[in-house]
Amino acid sequence: MMRGFSFRLIPTKEQEEYFWKASNAARFIYNWSLAEKKRLYTEEGISLSGYEMCKLLTQLKKQPEYQWLNEIHNKVLKKAVLDCDDAFTRMFKGQNRFPKFKSRKNCNISFYIETDIQNCGAVLLENGTIEYKSIPKIKFDHTNKVKLSGIGWVQLSNHAKEYNLWALTENLITISNGRVKFDGEHWNLTFAVDIPKPKKQLTDEIIGIDLGVKDTAICSNEIVYKNINKTSKNIKRLEKRKKRYQRQISRKYEMNKFINPDTGKPKFIKTNNIKKLEAKTKRIDRRLQNIRKTYNHQISREIVNRCPKAIVMENLNIKGMMKNKHLSKAIQQQNLYQLKTFIKYKAESQGSNFIEVPRNFKSSQICSKCGAVHKMNLNQRTYICLECGHIEDRDINAAHNLENYGISLLQA
Ligand SMILES: [Zn+2]
Repeated sequence: MMRGFSFRLIPTKEQEEYFWKASNAARFIYNWSLAEKKRLYTEEGISLSGYEMCKLLTQLKKQPEYQWLNEIHNKVLKKAVLDCDDAFTRMFKGQNRFPKFKSRKNCNISFYIETDIQNCGAVLLENGTIEYKSIPKIKFDHTNKVKLSGIGWVQLSNHAKEYNLWALTENLITISNGRVKFDGEHWNLTFAVDIPKPKKQLTDEIIGIDLGVKDTAICSNEIVYKNINKTSKNIKRLEKRKKRYQRQISRKYEMNKFINPDTGKPKFIKTNNIKKLEAKTKRIDRRLQNIRKTYNHQISREIVNRCPKAIVMENLNIKGMMKNKHLSKAIQQQNLYQLKTFIKYKAESQGSNFIEVPRNFKSSQICSKCGAVHKMNLNQRTYICLECGHIEDRDINAAHNLENYGISLLQA
């Protein structure tokens, strides 16, 4: 997000004199450039690029009657040439009319200020070590002054102090579109800085998220995201079709196999029909993946958009879970690892804490009320605590345990 800034300058007498001269020179060169382009185009039918016009400028400055231009920083004049070139480019694109001459009365009194950061490469220091140096063309210091190329240090008004502009220089922040402008009363320095989006205001909420097979994500605020593989008709239809193709493929392989006389072993041939069917199943796989991915994006966005202070999730021991045949397919289909990755990066990019509980944390066996631990069978859907009598849905209880882990971690 580009943000524009304007700060009042307090120039010395000499500096102010230079500001006037530079603004006049910029306007003069803009008009000269415009007249020259016009003349070359109508008389000779040629259109010069900005670069070629800059070469003409160098010639112009050598002529005795234009010696006064040499008092002005060359970049100011070059920029005026390029500004004129831009005006032509915009005209050709239909974005504006034929460029006009700038009259003394009727134009912005301003000139260009260099803002690029010059990369000086490696510099050998006296003690023999190498330092990589970059020098910004515009510099702000701690005494509320700014160094402009071709001019030197200029005082800024007190108002600028609040902005800690020196940090732009110390952190080598890229500044663009630098100009010194006269507003009819004062001289101002204007420029733009790319500022990242402000971080969101977070709430005090801590969300524990239990990932599961029956439902995909169960949050401690009792919001439940269903397993799309069980609810989506689209997925069921595609899965059915995929199975049909797979059966056809294996039948065709079986039909076309023959016994290799040399080895005595069966040999399978991939016919064109098989290739076509395999391409079709691949296409279905991609569609299924996309539907599941979109759903994972949707879940993660909804959770993270609540702007919780922290999100707590289990350490997915996918390998361990995959050993369980009953679970492995479901986990693969839901792409739980992907979902966790999405939640993690979205949470962290807005400044929410992302907490992962250690692998030995038994979120489903602990009583979220009293902390007692009971063994739980996978098919046992309700948690019943024999110590305190707490009764809760198995997954909600697990999500609460994750939330409690986050609370105790952030309090510590
Ligand atoms: Zn209990």
